[in-house]
Amino acid sequence: MVDVSANKPLLRALRHVLGDNGLFEAEAVQAVHVEEPRGRYHAMPLAVARPTELESVSAVVRLCAEAGVAIVPQGGHTGLVGGAIAGPGEVVLSLERMSRLRGLDPVDASMLVEAGCTLAGVRAAAAAAGLFYPVSLASEGTATIGGTLATNAGGNLTIRYGNTREQVLGLEVVLADGQVWSDLDPLRKDNSGYDLKQLFIGSEGTLGIITAATLKLAPAPRQSLTAMLACADLPTAMALLKHLRSGLGECLSACEFLPRLAMEFVLLDQPAQRDPFDSPHPWYALVQADSSLPGDSLEAAAHSVLHQALESRLCGDVVVAGSETQAKALWSLREGISAAQKHGGASIKHDISVPVASIPAFVADTVSALERSMTDIRPCIFGHLGDGNLHFNLSQPAPMNPERFRALETECNRIVFDQVRRYRGSIAAEHGIGQLRCNELARGQPDKVALMRRVKQALDPDGLLNPGKVLRP
Ligand SMILES: Cc1cc2nc3c(=O)[nH]c(=O)nc-3n(C[C@H](O)[C@H](O)[C@H](O)COP(=O)(O)OP(=O)(O)OC[C@H]3O[C@@H](n4cnc5c(N)ncnc54)[C@H](O)[C@@H]3O)c2cc1C
Repeated sequence: MVDVSANKPLLRALRHVLGDNGLFEAEAVQAVHVEEPRGRYHAMPLAVARPTELESVSAVVRLCAEAGVAIVPQGGHTGLVGGAIAGPGEVVLSLERMSRLRGLDPVDASMLVEAGCTLAGVRAAAAAAGLFYPVSLASEGTATIGGTLATNAGGNLTIRYGNTREQVLGLEVVLADGQVWSDLDPLRKDNSGYDLKQLFIGSEGTLGIITAATLKLAPAPRQSLTAMLACADLPTAMALLKHLRSGLGECLSACEFLPRLAMEFVLLDQPAQRDPFDSPHPWYALVQADSSLPGDSLEAAAHSVLHQALESRLCGDVVVAGSETQAKALWSLREGISAAQKHGGASIKHDISVPVASIPAFVADTVSALERSMTDIRPCIFGHLGDGNLHFNLSQPAPMNPERFRALETECNRIVFDQVRRYRGSIAAEHGIGQLRCNELARGQPDKVALMRRVKQALDPDGLLNPGKVLRP
């Protein structure tokens, strides 16, 4: 039981800094701040602090540090590993009201934004200036720039543009004692010592609070083509990827994949959709190509590459979107999978990566290893074929009781993560470690975790920034 009265002076001081609308306590704390999207974690914090400018973020962190109270930064709260959930007695620091666009320079091709801007808002502001912010996630309407930086979010366009880490030129951070470290200059080259911003990117709020960032912008695509290709098996899909890479070059923006089972779940979940193909296929690749050049050169080039793929039997059939609406419908088949998996009953999910060329062997070996332990398990493995990030999801055997299946989670995790290690992959490709994968990280990479603890000790010696996330105390 947390003794709230012991924190009364802190809460009074925070209210003084933030005003009534800037601090929620007790019943005023809304569900959005305490529930995680998958419902896995739930906890009631001491309070939710909602500053609107840098100075108040700094004051909140300093006051909490003086009182010895832990802080959990929160953006859009779309994270899937319990990273933004604050325990009892901890203060949520929500950046949602720090959402100004501080500047956009078309010559530098950069923009300076505050942490609480949504990803969709940033993409729209870049587009309005004829530029492009190339991180795109299904959660972008709610996910914030601060959250995507803190988790080094990936997404659908990584194959071409890289992850969030690659889009950042500068950062402004409030450190554990409330001091501000600001390095927001839009420099493309800067080798003056350690690249400190990279330490905070992907640190999931455990080393500092990101308050603003200077982001690199790309030329806006002017031509785009989306197609879905039917594949017989994963080795053929990998040969197809190689063919698309060499034929489309830097225009290949996305290459996703999904199995038949996922297609069936999504068609159940989205009754307005229809199967793009006349007959079922074991696997599907969703491909997007974009060009920033004016004119219509992409279409002919892409059609020729797709035609060659058919002729060489790298795919069994192709559907090319004839309009933006059709392109969106094809993307919805891919992006709807997570939500649609409920039609298969209970599921156990892993966000992992392996070297791209290892995908077929990894999938075959891991599925066999799982089948040795449990019969009739239904793999629903999909994700980003082009960058090796697999959402290695498992649906329960049809006749099994969901609770019995969920009880197998620890065993499934051990099998999957042991295989990930065997294939020199990562147990957390894009969602991060949060609370969910702390123990697994410590089990599999003790040397890395020991070094991470030294960094944590240097930047947050009292352990008050997002405790229990990434590193177990
Ligand atoms: C439908 C759906 C689709 C998704 N698709 C993808 C995908 O394709 N790729 C992908 O990578 N992720 C994906 N995600 C996961 C999630 O959207 C990302 O992790 C996103 O980056 C989280 O942003 P957020 O603002 O919601 O952060 P939150 O969930 O609020 O926080 C995430 C972590 O960052 C920390 N944090 C937040 N803001 C700050 C800050 N300003 N300073 C320091 N630390 C901070 C939090 O403490 C927490 O540890 C998806 C989620 C959903 C629900």
